[in-house]
Amino acid sequence: MAERDYRAVGPLPSSTRFLAGTSIEVAREIPRGPAPEHALFDFDGTLSLIREGWMDVMVPLLAGILSEYARPGETEADISALVKDFVTELTGKQTIYQMIRLAEEIRARGGVPRDPRDYKAEYHERLMERIASRRKGLADGTLPRAEALVPGSLEILGLLRDRGVRLYIASGTDEEYVLEEAALLGVDEFAPGRIYGAQADYASFSKEMVIRRILAENRVDGRRLAAFGDGYVEIADCKAAGGVAVAVASDESGRSGRPDAWKRERLLGAGADLVVPDYRDAKALVAYVWDGIEPESAADAAPAGRAEPRNGAAADAAGARPSGGPGRGGPR
Ligand SMILES: [Mg+2]
Repeated sequence: MAERDYRAVGPLPSSTRFLAGTSIEVAREIPRGPAPEHALFDFDGTLSLIREGWMDVMVPLLAGILSEYARPGETEADISALVKDFVTELTGKQTIYQMIRLAEEIRARGGVPRDPRDYKAEYHERLMERIASRRKGLADGTLPRAEALVPGSLEILGLLRDRGVRLYIASGTDEEYVLEEAALLGVDEFAPGRIYGAQADYASFSKEMVIRRILAENRVDGRRLAAFGDGYVEIADCKAAGGVAVAVASDESGRSGRPDAWKRERLLGAGADLVVPDYRDAKALVAYVWDGIEPESAADAAPAGRAEPRNGAAADAAGARPSGGPGRGGPR
């Protein structure tokens, strides 16, 4: 089954709001109904920061390869912009799809590409060089796990597990590495036997297939599903199934607590219901999605010492400001 390419499912919401005193942006009100029993998390950028910076490896590598086939008048900057476009557009799918696109671009310029798997192997080798010290640091304890996790990851996984929500992790990274890195970060124990990643036979895996399997095996309808992700794939697939989609517009390099503006816009375009920069407001997020309860004022949600709601980039982009308001009340 081929994986879908990105396309916006509809116009961006004209206005959004923030749950009082939190960084949780509500783009679409969640319909009342039974609470989700299953929650799917993407891995890279959603929980793990181990592969942070992968794009700085992939884009120059592919641009370098493609520039050998440049059309007359096509500059290095043109090639680089083109590569960046398709790499970002395909983010969230298995890595091989970016390499397949590279091969297509080479062919479109009259060249004969290598097997896309060769390009993927070369990319992976370079990325592993870049992240080797992180993996080693996690393994020997010199790098604290918190520094390689999206803030609040362990807290939200723990909150959900404690309320009996079944957790799954699905990634476009090769499965052996997802399993390894999930263990390095200590997130594997939250989804035992339910961690999925890319396969050598890439047609045999997609996040959509994982979602279908969750729903079929548990005989539940899609409204009992929540998905958390920083890629359009998991957001679009979750919405297509009828679930609640939480966009994690993580700032991977800065961990600033402000949403990444590009991810935010793209994920809203894919149909996300909520946007968070990370899980520092995990309690309020879970209370809202699972119980339909909102913090009534900033004081409820914000621990002492947190003076300002973190509304920076997202609020500016959306023209919205956090505001208080009555809780919706009652379990959903
Ligand atoms: Mg991701």
